[in-house]
Amino acid sequence: MVPVILVRYGELGLKGLNRPDFEKALSENIKRALQGLEYRYIHRDRGRIFIENYSMGEEGEFLSRLSRVFGIVSFSPAMAAELELDQVEQVSLEVFRRAMTVVAEGKSVTFKVHATRANKAFPLDSMELNRHLGAHVLKNIPGLSVDVHNPDITLAVEIRDRAYVSCRTLPGPGGLPYGVSGRALLLLSGGIDSPVAGWLAMKRGVEIQAVHFYSFPFTGEKSKTKVIDICKALARWSGAIQLYVVPFAEIQTSIMEHCHEEMRIVVMRRMMFRIAQELAGRHGALALVTGESVGQVASQTLESMRAVNAVTNLPVLRPLAGADKTEIVRLAKEIGTFEISIRPYEDCCTLFAPKHPRTRPQPAEAEAEEAKLDIVGLVRTAVEATEILSVRR
Ligand code: ATP
Ligand code: MG
Repeated sequence: MVPVILVRYGELGLKGLNRPDFEKALSENIKRALQGLEYRYIHRDRGRIFIENYSMGEEGEFLSRLSRVFGIVSFSPAMAAELELDQVEQVSLEVFRRAMTVVAEGKSVTFKVHATRANKAFPLDSMELNRHLGAHVLKNIPGLSVDVHNPDITLAVEIRDRAYVSCRTLPGPGGLPYGVSGRALLLLSGGIDSPVAGWLAMKRGVEIQAVHFYSFPFTGEKSKTKVIDICKALARWSGAIQLYVVPFAEIQTSIMEHCHEEMRIVVMRRMMFRIAQELAGRHGALALVTGESVGQVASQTLESMRAVNAVTNLPVLRPLAGADKTEIVRLAKEIGTFEISIRPYEDCCTLFAPKHPRTRPQPAEAEAEEAKLDIVGLVRTAVEATEILSVRR
């Protein structure tokens, strides 16, 4: 009898030729997520990944880390037994007794057995196993009754190369293994939205690096710490995240001095995109990601997006385009970035926001304003002075 965590993945199966690569990536990502925890080894077999002989004393940590590995649909801490009926019976009782300790004491407990037989060499089929193991549990553990519709405990038994017995199936985050979709650069402010946007891109297999435009000394050092902390929270889902901190105050000052007030935001955002595009090129990112949501604020109208988008030829992913603020907040709480994002430090946009920004700026108007700036020089200086950090969870 060996403790094994059984990992299920879904969508990967649909990806045809990519499938072996995706499975390999998922195994590697699981290994990375479990670093520092004890287990024998990880192996794959017909649409499942198995974490062999894991240390049950650390079970909580195993489960919590696996719940943050993209590509996993669900997973079960299980016991594996040899394919002998008496062994399967024994393991079933063992697993069942452990599950009982979790159910409220004194309560009468209902259960069912759910057997599946992928290995047809096993003499009992799934119906026979259900009946046989159900009777075995009833006989050995007093005070139980069977309820096939709404049981307190479901004893799942999978007959494969061995029998895998478990009473718990936990949800994974779904999506695709981190990294299989290539790399993108996330424009990461200290706000609520952009970390969620980054997380949604990660969920689709996109490896994220982050760029933050840092308005020091207009904003304090704490705004940088905040962004680093957001990266730490995101890194729990991915492993280390490369963070580029771009000094942005000089550019903002230049915009304040030379550009018409109502065009400031558009010009500023175009500068962000230019610098992001340059960094993306240097660091192998294929796309930009932002936390924009259509219509949320004046700078997120379609006209503004078009005017800003005009300075880059990279695809710009906006995973939150169609999300409401309440949905975004709910996700931010789930992924663990909300509490950091609401820390009260100003971001550069709130400092520089004009009273009446243009809600429908034209690209040509932005160009006219930018003619007053040394765009190339400003971009170059900012990129050269960019600080590169590697942030771990
Ligand atoms: P967020 O909650 O992500 O800050 P927001 O609703 O405040 O978004 P804006 O301030 O208009 O929206 O910013 C839109 C997007 O531009 C952000 O989601 C982020 O991707 C990017 N962005 C804004 N400010 C910065 C910054 N200082 N550094 C990096 N990216 C930024
Ligand atoms: Mg913001």
